[in-house]
Amino acid sequence: NVEQSTVNSVCYFEPYMKIKEADKYFYIHAIKGAIEGEQLRLLYQPKIDLNTNKIVGVEALTRWHHPERGVISPGDFISAAEESGQIVDITKWAINQACSDMAQWRKADIEDISVAINVSLVDFRSGALPQIIFKALNTNQISPHLLELEITESVIFDDADHVQEQIHKMNVKGVSFAIDDFGTGYSNLGYLSKFNVETLKIDQSFLKDIATNFHNQHIVKSIIKMSKSLHIENVAEGVEDEETAKWLRENDCSMAQGYHWAKPMAFNELVKFLEKNNSH
Ligand code: C2E
Ligand code: MG
Ligand code: MG
Ligand code: MG
Repeated sequence: NVEQSTVNSVCYFEPYMKIKEADKYFYIHAIKGAIEGEQLRLLYQPKIDLNTNKIVGVEALTRWHHPERGVISPGDFISAAEESGQIVDITKWAINQACSDMAQWRKADIEDISVAINVSLVDFRSGALPQIIFKALNTNQISPHLLELEITESVIFDDADHVQEQIHKMNVKGVSFAIDDFGTGYSNLGYLSKFNVETLKIDQSFLKDIATNFHNQHIVKSIIKMSKSLHIENVAEGVEDEETAKWLRENDCSMAQGYHWAKPMAFNELVKFLEKNNSH
């Protein structure tokens, strides 16, 4: 039985196999267990309005709690899951989890904030994304306006017509879209006026040393200026210190995320964090 042996192979994983290929093999075969065995967790990282210092939304980020390997970061398993197609199940899990958490929020009488979920090109290629989203929103009675999907430019530039169709379909219902890791992808920006994109998330690589790196200062300033003139929101990613936050405020960046305010945290912690931060 092939199924059985692949499951067993996880237990027989030896240290000498810790090479990239072995890792990929491990991930692809173990992810099924991760989903079925409820080893996935969703963390939330607050998104801050730089003018008011209030939390205006959160980004959902997946963690894999493997029984032997401990916590595995998405950077380690998402690409393997994309390659095997299993990302579709992970995305479905993340969407359902986020929507049920949002319903909890509402019950606890916490003010509505938007939740952003990362979705991949493979999710669009599968064609199932709009249905999965609509069903989860409906089941949990969540307004589509509270949901944002983070996509990279690879999604926008995919040839398949039905990618555009799906974005449109979700857009019409009120789901919004953010371009993640903006500035690292393509130089053709014409799509910004063609697609209804609400937000640009400025890639964290530009923010690392912004206070002293003039080159990056110019890049970030032009992204902010451009997004403003196109009436698109901007979010700076990976802000780790006050110096960077100050620079962003001075240069009219509207929102930011980063360890400076909060690391991604579990739902219960977030509830407390929200109560503390948005009450004054
Ligand atoms: P991303 O969407 O660009 O998310 C931002 C990443 O930066 C997150 O890493 C976050 O924890 C990290 N980060 C936030 N603030 C700071 C900071 O101040 N400093 C530093 N150094 N890092 C910061 P994470 O959670 O490891 O996720 C990595 C990537 O994996 C994400 O990048 C996203 O592309 C992908 N990902 C995460 N969860 C999912 C998921 O459920 N589905 C899909 N398709 N991709 C996911
Ligand atoms: Mg993201
Ligand atoms: Mg990013
Ligand atoms: Mg990303």
